[in-house]
Amino acid sequence: VPATADIVVVGAGIAGASAVETLRRSGFAGRIVLVGDEPELPYERPPLSKDFLLGTTLESRLFLRPLEFFAEHAVELRLGQRAVALDIPARAVVLADGDRLSFERLLIASGAAPLRLNVPGSDLAGIHYLRTLEDARTLTAAIQRAQHSTAGGRAVVVGAGFIGAEVTAACRMLGLNVTLLDVLSLPLVRVLGERMGAVFAELHRAHGVDLRLGEGVAAFHGAARVEEVVTTSGARLPCAFVVVGVGVRPAVGWLAGSGLKLDNGVRVDDYCETSTPGIFAAGDVACWPYRPVEAEAQWVRLEHWDNALRQGAAAARNLLGRREPYAPVPYFWSDQYDRQLHVVGHAPVWEQLVLRGDPLASTFAAFYLAGGRVRAALAVNRPRELVTLKKLVGAAVEPRLLADEESDLRALIPKPGNA
Ligand SMILES: Cc1cc2nc3c(=O)[nH]c(=O)nc-3n(C[C@H](O)[C@H](O)[C@H](O)COP(=O)(O)OP(=O)(O)OC[C@H]3O[C@@H](n4cnc5c(N)ncnc54)[C@H](O)[C@@H]3O)c2cc1C
Repeated sequence: VPATADIVVVGAGIAGASAVETLRRSGFAGRIVLVGDEPELPYERPPLSKDFLLGTTLESRLFLRPLEFFAEHAVELRLGQRAVALDIPARAVVLADGDRLSFERLLIASGAAPLRLNVPGSDLAGIHYLRTLEDARTLTAAIQRAQHSTAGGRAVVVGAGFIGAEVTAACRMLGLNVTLLDVLSLPLVRVLGERMGAVFAELHRAHGVDLRLGEGVAAFHGAARVEEVVTTSGARLPCAFVVVGVGVRPAVGWLAGSGLKLDNGVRVDDYCETSTPGIFAAGDVACWPYRPVEAEAQWVRLEHWDNALRQGAAAARNLLGRREPYAPVPYFWSDQYDRQLHVVGHAPVWEQLVLRGDPLASTFAAFYLAGGRVRAALAVNRPRELVTLKKLVGAAVEPRLLADEESDLRALIPKPGNA
């Protein structure tokens, strides 16, 4: 009979690592087992589409903590081990090698995995997805081969969301020719809307990207490796390699049939707890109630580093019996060329977009308003305003003052007690 772990964490990404660290920092002395299907210690994904591709961040700098840290904190690592099932009545996680890990409490932090394209030729070599360190190593090698090839390297990037836009920028900065394709009408449009999407379309074009919008992939051609992308409008694009970034889906396959409530990931309440008491979820895999000020709650599943870190920590405290609602201001960043984007809040719809500064300049901000309140904001190259912007999410403010570069944003922050 295998010993019971007090707490099992499935998924050794940011959310899982943040949770185990918080458990120990909170004084929890019970047995902790951290299960991860990747062979690596927990590491940072954001650099994989940015500085790591550019070669300015070395692989060794990606890891959150060295191996000794986990040993010192008595966190049992089961890396390179996939959880294949959850047996709720037995309170056990089943691993791919048949082992069963019993738990008293469980944290699901299995993250998300890339959606795959399914068109003729999509199994050819040279078609890359980017989620893991191993993916990034392979892509780096492909970029280097293209850089050194006399044929001149063209990369085709499929999907102009954040990952696709970042990879495009990195490849351009490394001197490759890049075609960026998207079936949608503008880059980043799902999150930032049309007005800002147009700004980033302009940015990529100004950097020499062949941006093709309203156009998808019909097929990939090549003998063994991809040599050409055929688009839905019939264009044929010769290429050295392809990168696909068309979104992710929550990694819940292993939970099928467990009885756990799944709906766009694992449904959790304000305390990160699932429909089954004692089983929690956090990070990219979790769908939780976001409660904006003076508006209806929304079920959200965020794919942001900051959310994984904070929700992992919040789940850990709730695993220990605290009743601490998880109520963050959502936040993420992105780097493209010399632009650093910060996005705070969450606004699936808005009524008004207020600009502060010229969006074609290298620095500006944009505020997304609904119901007279700031619901989200984008800031480009304004890192020092980030704290202020977070405090403005939910605030009822005069659009005129947001737009006026002379007015101090800090003065618009609601005073405690009269939001
Ligand atoms: C290339 C890239 C760039 C990004 N850039 C940014 C950025 O600039 N800013 C930002 O805010 N966010 C960024 N993100 C998103 C951010 O990295 C994610 O939100 C974050 O990694 C989510 O952490 P997580 O721990 O929830 O999930 P993950 O990081 O996905 O970790 C989950 C882990 O669980 C493992 N796993 C899955 N299923 C199982 C199973 N059945 N058994 C065992 N293990 C399993 C997975 O393999 C993975 O190792 C980026 C993501 C990528 C891929």
